[in-house]
Amino acid sequence: ASLYGVGDWGADYFNVDDAGRLRVQVPGQEISVPIVDLVEAMQLRGLEMPVVLRIENLLDHRISEINTAFQRAIDSSGYNNHYRGVFPIKVNQQCHVIEEIADFGQRYHHGLEAGSKAELIIAMSQLRDYDSLIICNGYKDREFVELGLYARQIGIQCFFVLETRSELDIVIECSKRLGIDPLIGTRIRLASMVEGHWNEDSGDRSIFGLSTDSLISVIETLKQHEMLHCLQLLHCHLGSQIPNIRNIRSGVLEACRFYAGMVAEGAPMGFLDVGGGLAVDYQGLRSNETHSMNYGLDEYCINIIETLQESLDAEGIPHPVLVSESGRALVAYSSMLLFNVLDVRDHRPGQLPATLDDDAHDLIVNLHSVLDNVHVDNLQECYNDAIYYRDELREMFHRGMASLRERALAENYALGIFERVAALLPEARRVSPELSDLPVMLADIYYGNFSLFQSLPDIWAIDQLFPIMPIHRLDEKPERQAVIADITCDCDGKIDRFSYLGDTHSTLPLHPLVESSEYYLGVFLVGAYQETLGDLHNLFGDTTVVSVHIEPDGSFEFVREFHGDSIADVLSYVEYEPKNVLEQFRKVAERAVRDGRINVEERQNMLRAFRDSLNGYTYFER
Ligand code: PLP
Repeated sequence: ASLYGVGDWGADYFNVDDAGRLRVQVPGQEISVPIVDLVEAMQLRGLEMPVVLRIENLLDHRISEINTAFQRAIDSSGYNNHYRGVFPIKVNQQCHVIEEIADFGQRYHHGLEAGSKAELIIAMSQLRDYDSLIICNGYKDREFVELGLYARQIGIQCFFVLETRSELDIVIECSKRLGIDPLIGTRIRLASMVEGHWNEDSGDRSIFGLSTDSLISVIETLKQHEMLHCLQLLHCHLGSQIPNIRNIRSGVLEACRFYAGMVAEGAPMGFLDVGGGLAVDYQGLRSNETHSMNYGLDEYCINIIETLQESLDAEGIPHPVLVSESGRALVAYSSMLLFNVLDVRDHRPGQLPATLDDDAHDLIVNLHSVLDNVHVDNLQECYNDAIYYRDELREMFHRGMASLRERALAENYALGIFERVAALLPEARRVSPELSDLPVMLADIYYGNFSLFQSLPDIWAIDQLFPIMPIHRLDEKPERQAVIADITCDCDGKIDRFSYLGDTHSTLPLHPLVESSEYYLGVFLVGAYQETLGDLHNLFGDTTVVSVHIEPDGSFEFVREFHGDSIADVLSYVEYEPKNVLEQFRKVAERAVRDGRINVEERQNMLRAFRDSLNGYTYFER
């Protein structure tokens, strides 16, 4: 269990019991549930792998943690205003997630951030608490602005954050026409840059936000229209997953200078929104590596609060309501992707003969003797010879001068030699780069019942590292080294970068499969961005999603179950009409009856199977 670093990345939400099962720990209570028990309970309810499992308790706990950490920082520093969180809907738009944030978050007045009309419609329909904010980012047309103004009219604190100068004209026109005063914010383009993958969200070349000159123009225009009183919020977003706290401090400091500048221009202000960026320690390293973070939640909050306080106090400016838009840090922990392993391809050599026949091919005789002579001092030489003789034999096979069986034997000998060389590498004094790649070349391939493109798109798109581990058998030593392949027909559909033992590795230690038992793997901290960005590669659809609430007595309730897309669903996404598809196949089968290739009973069986498949899950079903 410590191999997989649960204690490092799990933020105390996961632990391993004596029976080798990974358990979900309910924060602050002595209650935990083995994840395999939840899998078993899903099976009883007809919910098939792969599944996204959401633990509602963890989502609630994250909402509390972020809000109370800011409150602690405010209390300890004597900051003179309050905190308001808003959750950016784009990070996880799933209905249950948003409903839970709106519902549980109400006690902290946690609001929502919308980046499009569709997201604004979600926000307006979900928020019930008028002390919460709706922050509208993104590009806004007339319809978007009108919707936001109606929200304003019914008493919701809905801010339009101007991304471009041209949006202001639409906001002014709509608000005058409807007679509703808007709440306006400006997104500024900070010069401060951050480390990490999303460092282009800030800096001079960022595609987001107003330049300083455009900001002045916004202020001028608002003055001309006698609407400067509407300008109340400054917004900045330095980038997501900021691994280095020092970048956050300098970005917020720059934002404070802009805030002070806007106050000096006569804007009433009152709200400062520092955007997202609070990281998740996917690797558990607590360092400023891309997938980690060199700070904790309390440190994040104190840094921001103190920076605001110090820089605004110096200019005698009242403390604003502090707004942040944490997405990743709020939802990542609550979801995990669970899947079963369908098969394993290992690279172990087949049976090798103890002695060779007298008429054995010369190249095979050579390979046989190389295998007998592998020694810690001649590893490179044996490796070179194995490749040379194997490839020579393949060449002869090409030209019809070696048989299929000879080729198979030569390839098995080469694998046998590689295996012995790899086993002796730890004892070798010097290991060349090609030899050090050998364990990866020999790694098993574990075929997982999932689509990387649908469920873990960031692994494909941006080399994201997520913690991955078995959810059971953790009391057994994982003796195989593996890479993981998904079930799409795409060579990019594989995972061959893993983080454990404080480093990144090309293979993951896993257990050998046991005949007629399932082996389950979990990919953790996947609640942010993954469900939203996934696509239909090979027409593998949305997975089944299950939301579980763990009760104080350790029992659990399946609060939500969404069956994954059926084949008919995914066909309709790409404009097929399932009824027509069935009808077309019926015609094909009927023609086959007419031509005498099948009888009517066979036709009926085929049509039944076809219909069942249309209604079935897109993933592998046992
Ligand atoms: N706010 C804005 C404007 C964003 O673009 C993003 C995402 O990049 C976020 C908030 C959420 O960021 P994070 O998930 O890092 O909290």
